[in-house]
Amino acid sequence: MATEGAPKPAAFLDRDGVINVDNGYVYRPEDFAWIDGAREAVKFLNDNAYFVFVVTNQGGVAHGHYEEDDVLSLHRWLNGELALIGARIDAFFYCPHHPDGVREEYRKECHCRKPRPGMLEAAMAEWPVEKSRSFLIGDKPADAEAARAAGVPGYLFNGDNLFDKVRAIVAE
Ligand SMILES: [Mg+2]
Ligand SMILES: [Zn+2]
Repeated sequence: MATEGAPKPAAFLDRDGVINVDNGYVYRPEDFAWIDGAREAVKFLNDNAYFVFVVTNQGGVAHGHYEEDDVLSLHRWLNGELALIGARIDAFFYCPHHPDGVREEYRKECHCRKPRPGMLEAAMAEWPVEKSRSFLIGDKPADAEAARAAGVPGYLFNGDNLFDKVRAIVAE
C-alpha cells in the first residue's frame, strides 16, 4: 500500500528531457533514448531512501498523437528496464490534458499540467512524503514553477548526466 511505511523525501522527476531524450511525443520503447546517468540516478535515489516519482505533461494525448494506454505501457516498460539494474520508479503521474487539445475529452485547463502543481500534490497526498527534503528536477521553467507552487525546490537540468545532477543535489 502506498500509504504504509515510514515517510521519505521524494525526488520528482520530469520525464522527457530528464529521464529520456526529448525527441517530441515519445510513446514507444523504440523511440525511447535514455539520458546519460538516468538509470543510475534512479537506483541511487532508491538506495538513498527517496521516493522516485515521475511527473510528466503528456499533452500528446490531448493532441491525438497517442493514447493514455500508450503512456501507461511505456511506463511499465520503463520500470521493467529499471528492474534489470534493481531500480524502480515508485509511481508515475502524467497529465494527458491540453488547453488546445484536438480531443474534446482532454481539452481543458486542468490543475495537473505543469506549471500547475497538481501531480506533485497528488503524489504527496497518496504517499508518505517528507516534504522538507524533497525536490524536483526538470528541463523547463514550467517544471521549476510547478515545484515552487507545490513548495519544494526545483532544479533545472541541461541534459548532460542525471546521475551527476542527482548526486550533487542530494549532497547539498
Ligand atoms: Mg521535460
Ligand atoms: Zn492535466
